[in-house]
Amino acid sequence: MPVAQFPAVLSFEDARRAVEQQASQVRQLKTESVDLLVASGRVLAESILADRDLPPFPRATRDGYAVCAADLAHVPATLDVIGEIKAGESLENIPKLIQSGQAVSIMTGAPVPGGADAVVMVEYTAQQGERVEITRSIKPGENIVPSGAEAQQGSVLVERGVRLNDAAIALAATAGQSPVHVYKRPQVAVLTTGDEIVTIDATPGPTQIRNSNRYSLAVQIRNAGGEPVLLPIAPDEPRKLRTLIEEGLKSDLLLMTGGVSMGRYDLVEQVLEELKAEFFFTGAKIQPGRPVVFGKCGAGAPAQENTGTYFFGLPGNPVSTMVTFELFARAMVEALAGMSPRKLQFTYSKLKSEIRVKPGLKRFLPAILSGEFEASQVELVPWQGSGDIAATARANCYIVIPPDREFITSGEFVPIMLR
Ligand code: AMP
Ligand code: MG
Repeated sequence: MPVAQFPAVLSFEDARRAVEQQASQVRQLKTESVDLLVASGRVLAESILADRDLPPFPRATRDGYAVCAADLAHVPATLDVIGEIKAGESLENIPKLIQSGQAVSIMTGAPVPGGADAVVMVEYTAQQGERVEITRSIKPGENIVPSGAEAQQGSVLVERGVRLNDAAIALAATAGQSPVHVYKRPQVAVLTTGDEIVTIDATPGPTQIRNSNRYSLAVQIRNAGGEPVLLPIAPDEPRKLRTLIEEGLKSDLLLMTGGVSMGRYDLVEQVLEELKAEFFFTGAKIQPGRPVVFGKCGAGAPAQENTGTYFFGLPGNPVSTMVTFELFARAMVEALAGMSPRKLQFTYSKLKSEIRVKPGLKRFLPAILSGEFEASQVELVPWQGSGDIAATARANCYIVIPPDREFITSGEFVPIMLR
C-alpha cells in the first residue's frame, strides 16, 4: 500500500536543499593515520600547515644569469660573471650580495643571491670567459619567485575536510607530512529490494533480473569516500524487508533501491513508517528518479551526534538509482566522510541536436560530450528510459533540462553534469 501521509514531492531544488541542510548537521568523528602514499581520496581530519615558507628561498625559475635589472636598461650590456649557483647549492658557495655590473650563472630551482632582482634566460646571453653579454632588458622580479610567495610558514596548505587528490598530496609531501590524519570511511549499507532480483552468480529465471544496483552503488559509495556494506536482497514482503532495513540502519547511512514507487508491492515506505521514520521528502520532480525518498530513522548511527540514521529510498530502475545517488545520496556520504560541503557541479556545452520533452520535471538525461576545443558539443544518447543501463554506460554526462523547457534548439548552450 503506498503511503498517502507523505505526499511531499518537492522540486529538485527544494529536495537538494533538504539534503544539504541535513548533511550540514552530520559529522564524522572517527579518525586514523594513513601513509601519504595510500591517502588518495581520503578526507583530512587535520589541516596541513606549511612547516616553512614556500618557496623557502627566492627561487630561480629559469636557467640563466641572476642580475640587477637596472644594469640592463640599455642592451646589449656586458657583466662580470662572479660565480655559478646550481639547485641545492650550499649556502657558503652562494655570493652574499651581487653588485651592479655583476652577474651569477644560475640554474632553475636554485636560490637567487642577494642584490640580484631578476634572472635573464640563458637564451639571451653569450658567456665568454668571465664576462657575459646580455641582449635583452628585463623587469625587476622576472623569473624569480620570492620566498614565501606561494605560502608562508605556519599558514594552512590543505584544509581539514578536503578530500586528498594529487595536488593536495603533493602539498602534504612538500610539508613533509606522512602519515596524514584522515577521517574513517563511513559505513554505507546497501539494501536492494524486489522479488524479481537475483544475485549475479545465480542463473536468472525467465522473469528474473540480476542485481546490478548493488554493484553500481558500491562503486558510487566508494567514489564518494564511503565503505559499502552489502546486505542480502530483500523480498517484497514486509517482515523480511523490515528485518533487513533494521540491519541496514545500524550503518552510518542506509541506501535502499526499489520498492519506493506506487506499485502494490512497493513496501519500503510503509515499513519505514512502521519504524517511525521521519521523511524529508518522498519524491522529487525529476526524471529519472521521481520516487526518491529521503528520511531519518532509528536510534542513530555511531558516527552521528544527533539521533537517527539517514536513509535514502532510491528508485529501482538502474539509471534512476545512479542519478539519484549523484544528485542526493552522494552529499550525505561525503558529509559522513568528513568532507566540507560543496554544491553540485555543472558546466555548459553546445547542444548538437534539438531536444523535445514534456515540461514539469527537471531532467538529467544521459548524453555524450564529444569534440575537442571549440568543436565541443553534447547530444542525448537514445535510450529506452530509466531502465536502460546500456545507454547510460555509453554516456559520459547528463544534460540538465529545466522543468519549463519543452524544446531546446541545436546550437544552444545547455547545462551538463559530468559522470
Ligand atoms: P521498483 O523501483 O522496485 O519499482 O523497480 C523498478 C525497476 O527496476 C524494475 O524493472 C526492477 O526490476 C528494476 N530493479 C529494481 N531493483 C533492481 C536491482 N537491484 N538491479 C537491477 N534492476 C533493478
Ligand atoms: Mg520492486
